[in-house]
Amino acid sequence: MHDLIARAARDLAGTHNAVALTGAGISIESGIPPFRGPGGLWEKIDPMEVAHIDALRRDPHKVWERLIQGMLKVLAKAAPNAAHRGLAALEDLGQLEAVITQNVDGLHQQAGSRDVIEFHGSFAWQRCMTCERRRPSETLDLAVIPPRCECGGILRPDCVFFGEMIPPEHLARAQQLSAGCQVMLTVGTSATVHPAAMLPLIAREAGARVIEINPEPTPLTARTSDYLIPGPAAQVVGDLAAAVAALRTPPA
Ligand code: NAD
Ligand code: ZN
Repeated sequence: MHDLIARAARDLAGTHNAVALTGAGISIESGIPPFRGPGGLWEKIDPMEVAHIDALRRDPHKVWERLIQGMLKVLAKAAPNAAHRGLAALEDLGQLEAVITQNVDGLHQQAGSRDVIEFHGSFAWQRCMTCERRRPSETLDLAVIPPRCECGGILRPDCVFFGEMIPPEHLARAQQLSAGCQVMLTVGTSATVHPAAMLPLIAREAGARVIEINPEPTPLTARTSDYLIPGPAAQVVGDLAAAVAALRTPPA
């Protein structure tokens, strides 16, 4: 693995416009379970039952009770790990242009990343389903669920549920970054949720090197990525950021 990290550090050090695409896997070591795989949320609940926009419209109380409330509690306790910090460091070094994240946990910004495209929105904000007014999630009173807006409408997280469209400005910027980068790092994503899953393909077809960081192979591994660094995000991205910094420091 050490050789692969050194290789990725060389690939990154030669570019100024790398882009990272991150998924639920990068936040597992921060205590946030993924949706799929062992320990994943989908083992216990059916996504179409609770994370689909039709379910929210049909029975907001049930979706708040079974999904949103629990997620908010988990997110409130989570803190960024070495992988989030490593990507922020790569941005500071001038190597990484932006992070495109599928996550809704806000941990990249907490770690210091400045240019973050929240492809699936964020749990940090709530939006009224009637008047569209937004408010920070930390101001919510959850004594009664679903919580309501001043107008009486029901509040919902400002994120993208299954069955909803990606905000067009996020989609356009993510596609543009993917088509323009020389290196794409994919970190902790199974690359099965569309349209995010096509971003590495766009990068690859435009000539970028696609470097995958994941303990397991994914559908990207065989077809799209140049190489997989098999390991947990915190260790691999942390070591990678340190290796890039070392390459950039002129010998004394
Ligand atoms: P996913 O749940 O489909 O896949 C998680 C991936 O992480 C897997 O490929 C797994 O092998 C990998 N992984 C496991 N441990 C890891 C580690 N320590 N380091 C790195 N990778 C590790 O995730 P996805 O592809 O992001 O898609 C799921 C969707 O669910 C996303 O759209 C996202 O919005 C949402 N989601 C977000 C959060 C969050 O905000 N933290 C949490 C759960 C789900
Ligand atoms: Zn309202």
